[in-house]
This record gives sequence, C-alpha cells and structure tokens, in this order.
Amino acid sequence: MVGRRARGRRKNATTGARRAVRHPRPVPPVAKVEPITTARALRGPFDYRRPDGVGIGSVLVVPFGHRDVVGVVVGVAEASALPDERLAQPRRVLDHDLPPDLVDLALWMADEYCSTPARALALVSPPPGARAKLTWWAQPAAAPPPQERPLTERQRALLAQLPRPAAGDLAALRRLERRGLVTLTRRPTRRHVHHESVGARRAQPALTPDQTLALAEIEAAMSAPDCGEAPRPLLLHGVTGSGKTEVYLRAAATALARDRGVIVLVPEIALTPQIVSRFVDRFGDTVAVLHSKLAPGERHDEWSRLRDGSARVCVGPRSAVFAPIERLGLIVVDEEHDSSYKHEGDPRYDARHVALRRAERAGALLVAGSATPRPESVHALRRVRLPARVDGRPLPPVQIVDMRDGRGALHPDTSHALVDARKAIVLLNRRGWSNFVDCRSCGHAWTCPQCDVSLVLHRAQNHLACHHCGHRERVPQRCTDCGSVSIGRHGAGTERLEHDLAQVGHEVFRLDADVRDAGGLLRRFERAPRGILLGTQMVAKGHDFPDVTLGVVIDADSTLRFPDFRAEERTFALVAQLAGRAGRGPGGGRVIVQTLSPAAASIAAAARHDADGFLDGELARREALRYPPFSHLIRIVCSAEDPHAVLDAASAVRAALGDIRGATILGPAPLFRLRGRERAQLVVKGAHRAAAVHAAGAAVDAVAGERARRGVAFSVDVDPQ
Ligand code: ADP
Ligand code: ZN
Ligand code: ZN
Repeated sequence: MVGRRARGRRKNATTGARRAVRHPRPVPPVAKVEPITTARALRGPFDYRRPDGVGIGSVLVVPFGHRDVVGVVVGVAEASALPDERLAQPRRVLDHDLPPDLVDLALWMADEYCSTPARALALVSPPPGARAKLTWWAQPAAAPPPQERPLTERQRALLAQLPRPAAGDLAALRRLERRGLVTLTRRPTRRHVHHESVGARRAQPALTPDQTLALAEIEAAMSAPDCGEAPRPLLLHGVTGSGKTEVYLRAAATALARDRGVIVLVPEIALTPQIVSRFVDRFGDTVAVLHSKLAPGERHDEWSRLRDGSARVCVGPRSAVFAPIERLGLIVVDEEHDSSYKHEGDPRYDARHVALRRAERAGALLVAGSATPRPESVHALRRVRLPARVDGRPLPPVQIVDMRDGRGALHPDTSHALVDARKAIVLLNRRGWSNFVDCRSCGHAWTCPQCDVSLVLHRAQNHLACHHCGHRERVPQRCTDCGSVSIGRHGAGTERLEHDLAQVGHEVFRLDADVRDAGGLLRRFERAPRGILLGTQMVAKGHDFPDVTLGVVIDADSTLRFPDFRAEERTFALVAQLAGRAGRGPGGGRVIVQTLSPAAASIAAAARHDADGFLDGELARREALRYPPFSHLIRIVCSAEDPHAVLDAASAVRAALGDIRGATILGPAPLFRLRGRERAQLVVKGAHRAAAVHAAGAAVDAVAGERARRGVAFSVDVDPQ
C-alpha cells in the first residue's frame, strides 16, 4: 500500500482499511511494472520511474519497445539494476487501480497454474476499453444575476426541478445557462444495469430449524478469527430445495452488518437468474452483478461501484471471484460441483480453488454449497447439512428404465408419463439431430476435416457441424466415396427428440447451446400452463419451477462412456440434480431415468437419493486409484500440425520431467486431432502439489524454449476437469 492516492473512495465514514497513510520516509522511486501482454516469453516485471501517488495495483501506460502498453505495478523498489538514464517514465496513470490483494492473488495464480503474471493480471484487471459515461448535470447557479426579461412558465418549472441530469431538455437548459441561472457540468453517471426479477418475489421467510442451525455454524465460523487465522471453509450440503439460498442470503446480511463484503459465485447467470434476483430483491443497490453479457460500459460501472465501495456484494460467474471488494467477509460458491467454475483459457484457473485462497488471505469465510458436492470438497471441507426440503416433501421417487432391448428414444412408460404430466423437464446431453452420419452402402463416415470426430447433423440449419471446432458443411445428398444415396443417421440429439416429443402434444421448449436467449426461454416455460422443457445439462441447473411434476433423463449413462475418472461423479450429479427439479410443488412428482447401464453405481445411488453412499464409495475408489483428492493431477498437452513434432516434443517433456518425488507420470499418449492440430498428452499424478506444479512448469519452459519446437504449442492444466 505504498503511496496510494487518497481519493475519498468510500461514501460513508467506515474507512477502517483506508486510513490515509503518511510515509515517514520517502517512497521508493522505482515502480516494478508487469505489462499486460499475452506473449509467454515476456517475463517481467520491468522497472520504470515511479510517478507520484503510484503504488502496488496502480495501472499505467508505459513505453515498451516501440509501443505503449498497459501495465500493472506489482512492486516498488529503492533502486533498479538499470542505469538511471535508461529508466523510462510512464506515459500516463490510468484512473482505475487494482486493490493490492488482487495483485497478490494474480501473482499467486500465475505460479499455481503455470501461467504468466501478465495473463493472470489481465484476469483481475477492470474490464478493458470501457470508460465512465459522462452526461450533463444541471444545477441552479450559486449566484444568479438579476434578470432583465421575465422567465417563461416552462423555464420556471425547469429551474424548480434542479439539480438533475440533463435529458432531452439540454437546449432549454443551455439557454438558462447563458442567462447565468444554471450551471452545466459533465459528470460520470452510472449505466443502470437492469436485473430482471424472475420467479415470485418472496418476503424473507422465517428459517426452518435446520436452516437456523446451519446459519449459526456459518456465523460462528465467520466471527471466529481476528487471531490471525482465517475461518475454516464450510461445505453446505443440502438436497435441492432445502433452502441453501436463504442461508446464503442470511449469511450475507450478517457479513454486511459487520461491514464486510460478499462474493457470491454462481454457475451461469443466464441459467440461474433466480439467485441473482433474490440477492437484488433482498439487498438492492449494494449488489453488483458482473458477467459477460453486460455491455463493456455496464461492466465498467459495476466494477467501479465495487471498487469504490458503493456496492458491497458481487454476484457473478467464476470471474466474479476477482471482484474488487475490500474487507471481504464471505465468499459463497453456489452449486460448487458445476464444471463452469473451471476456466478453459490460460491461466486455467479453478474459481473454487482461487476462492479458497482469496478467502484465506482476506480472513473471509468460504461457503461452498451443493446437493451433489464434489468428493474433493467432502474430503477437504467441514460439512454443514440441510437434510430435507424446506416444504417437508420427500424427494420424488426415481424409476430406472432399462433401455438395452428397447427401440426408439422414448420407452413406453416415459411416453405415458409425459402425456399425463402438465409440466416436465427432459434431459438429453447431446445437441443436434443425429450424432453420427454414415453411408449404408460402403460405411463411409462423415468426420470433421479439422478434428478426428464425427460430425453432428443439425436438420433445421441443414448442415453437419463439428462440436469441437465449429466446422460446418451441407448435409450430403449422396456418399462422397461410392455415390450411394442411402445415408444413415444414428443416435438422437435434442433436436431429434424435440421432434419426437412434439407427438406427445405439449409445447416443447428446447434449451441447449444452439439457443441464443436461454433466460427468455426459461421465462416462457415458467409462464406456460403446460409444456416440456427439453435440453442438455443446462436444464438441470439451479432453476426452481414449482409446477414441474416429471423429470426424465434420456440416456443417463452417456456421461459414463467418457474415459474420465470424474465420469461417475458427473453422472451422479446430473441425475440427482434433475431429480431435484421435479416435484417441488404441492402435486409432488416423479423421475424416470432411461439408461443402458441400469446397474451403474452412480445411477443407482442417484435413484435412491443416496449422496452419502455415493460419496463414500467414490472416495474409496479414488483413494485406491490415487485420484484427486488423494493426488494432484497436471495435464500437459503438446500440439502441432506435424504429428512427428508433437510426439517428439511430448517425449522431450517426459525426459525433462525426470523423476518427481511422490509422482507418477502417465504418457505421452496421443489425443484426437483438434482444429487441424495433432496432440499428445502427459499426465503428472503427484502427491505434493507445489513440487509437481513446479516440475511441470519448468519442464515445459525448458522444452518450449528449444529451437526445434517451432510450431509446437504447449498447455499446462493444473487440476484438469
Ligand atoms: P436450494 O437453494 O437449497 O435449492 P432454495 O433456497 O432455493 O433451496 O429454497 C427452495 C424454496 O424454498 C424457495 O422457493 C425458497 O424461497 C423457499 N424457502 C427457503 N427457505 C424457506 C423457509 N425458511 N420458509 C419458507 N420457504 C423457504
Ligand atoms: Zn458410400
Ligand atoms: Zn472440428
């Protein structure tokens, strides 16, 4: 906190952390600046002269080579290794700076995820390119001169309404300004972000006894420290509909009452509008929402409101873990099992892991919540439970339907149940019409020219599409190899099922990645008196439609067919989450699970609503196989157009890794070609996280720096999903 500009950020007078600091000794003259560039080879920080008032977290424009770049001050120093005359002067100091603790968090992230400080700092920086919006503000002049002409009635009315922003009447106000009656100034104004209210507005309910106990534990944990130790993070494990959100709201109120800020992470704003509106309804303007659907200007304004303390609660997806909130007291990670918390760009951070670090550093409490928590969280966090639904209703009975000798997408039982249900949710985790197209005569299969995967037929758009790279081509009329017109379509996706379900006679609302306005679609389904919500895993996320009486999972074991140690966990969560969406109303409900693997442990446990049984078995299996949380995984992927270069590079990385204490190294193993690039991967499975991460980073840096590696790209993924 060196030389922070005193800018009177906080509106009220509760400025514990922002005492004006007087420096007894001169402030160091050198600023260490990390330029925000994506080039991996560029490793800062670089030394510049430190302008007055600049400290850790300041954002500067600095000359860098032949251009100017934006950089973040990550340190200050008494002296530089550079001779004084080569120490450059920054061009400008930008008017938004980062809280120093976010600079710290970014530098930690760069190491933790084998990335660079620049890339990590870019993630925690304010939304780029946006400025505060300036509008004209009119107020009565302090000392109006005597008037020669009388004012019109309209002018008098105008004067009586001031001060306020000028709107369509700017010209009229200008005339009054010329007469010395009004002062017009440009002021930054906040772009109002409209938070749509979804679902019925509910008054704050009295807590159930279970909620009261859970809240008491959370509050006790929040107030524990001040002895230098961070509160121990908690896992709120509660079945769907057990009132977890209400507990988050109360815990947030407690944090605010203690003058501490709050971050609430949610999987995807478009799919979970209900939790956003519940926070806005309860806390009003002190809630800021940060997500990618906001216009850059709106993002800027929401960010600034958090930065200056006028908003103290941030609700948003994974990137909201970087919300610039000072004196943080609580971080909530809702639906903590959701895979969207993992970021797929470099740094490949996991917001749940970053949230733990940030909470620990800030002395804040982390509360992760889910009906289907990850084995990792169950293993590491102290558990608080909400064992029953708020309304006391049992979870709906689940019927497993064996599809091994069935025909068609829907079992007769399923069709009958759909006809009877007023409202239903149907989950099929595949988009498109058919997921495999081939020639019935010669067997030619249509695959992506860029990736080694089959193309998916999308009938409405009349094209075959690759779901990995976006490649598209026209639906073939005849075989390109033998000319036959007999083309086979195999496997049904949501588009095909939508067609089949239309036969049931209900309106079908299809929700998948092909749908642009997910929020609008969910609202239409909510309002409709009858209907079927059909879609990919998106339909199993946090919405709450009380009148849904039937949930159906089609091909529940599709997620099990992926060769991934998390396949069981994903399948369990998918089935259990969908089951939680049905039967929330007075009519009760039921769930049907169609599967080719009726005996699979994850499916059977989900059908019994037996999360504990599943978690026990899964943790035992992971321990036996030394999978997380009993080890740490790091995935290294090499890719290039040339297959030899890839294998060569992967072997070189393998050699550079050498022996890592307590770790086994799997591979190199080939992966399927993606976007025209051949790929190979290595997996480090290590007992000691820091050692394994460090070894992986060092090996990749060494190999990537070699001449022979031109054209080969390397990616390191710590805790891959
Ligand atoms: P979860 O997040 O565990 O799925 P919610 O917090 O969404 O559960 O609660 C489910 C429903 O119960 C919501 O409609 C919520 O408004 C309502 N609810 C929560 N707590 C109470 C309570 N103590 N009394 C009455 N209704 C409640
Ligand atoms: Zn053919
Ligand atoms: Zn492709």
